[in-house]
Amino acid sequence: MSHNEKRENLAERYFLKIVGPWIEFPPKFFRKTFLRGVFRILQQEHHRRVYLTFDDGPIPECTPWLLDTLDRYGIKATFFMVGDNVRKHPELYDEVIRRGHRVGNHTMHHLNSLKVGARRYIEDVKEAARYIDSDLFRPPHGWMPFLYTAHICQSYSIIMYDVVTRDYSKYVSAQRVVENVKKYARPGSIIVFHDSLKSREKLEYALPRCIEWLQREGYEFSIIEGRPHHRRSRLWRR
Ligand SMILES: [Zn+2]
Repeated sequence: MSHNEKRENLAERYFLKIVGPWIEFPPKFFRKTFLRGVFRILQQEHHRRVYLTFDDGPIPECTPWLLDTLDRYGIKATFFMVGDNVRKHPELYDEVIRRGHRVGNHTMHHLNSLKVGARRYIEDVKEAARYIDSDLFRPPHGWMPFLYTAHICQSYSIIMYDVVTRDYSKYVSAQRVVENVKKYARPGSIIVFHDSLKSREKLEYALPRCIEWLQREGYEFSIIEGRPHHRRSRLWRR
């Protein structure tokens, strides 16, 4: 590694150390800027329920293991899939549905809304919709401009999260992923993991531990319903 690369890595690590907690637990002002995103689902009194979500799959290296693990604990979850992965692995898409989970659109090519124009972005979401039958959408990279939001929420509930485990980050250990869940999860939390190559090893360590801890804390698990409790409903909270 060159001297410059080392310096950049160090800068990135320190930057992430400072902003890390904001990524893991998005602050209120950020939630407000995302006017129509659902960050947490308000629970009726005494209900302790959380919503596990898995982004960026499905891939053969991770998703089958994940499905077996969820089955072992009797848990249903929501998968925000990349259309191109569904195109390559339609049998995994079918398997996720067959086992009673919910799917959501996460664009065709995992686009970053800051790097492409609105037209291209919307086209990409529509292309993904040919492979993913859902009324849930989650923007890749955790953000998109209001113009896109206004358009997309005509057809989708926009599902964000209030606990980001950061299982994808090379600066975050598997133990830290578990700690993030213990630290931030609360009734109604939408928790995000990834079934991707980057996070696979951490997921294998962290997911069973997170599930067992949440179960000990009395949490139940549910899929995200979407439309029946659409954005104007009192059940939804940012
Ligand atoms: Zn993603």
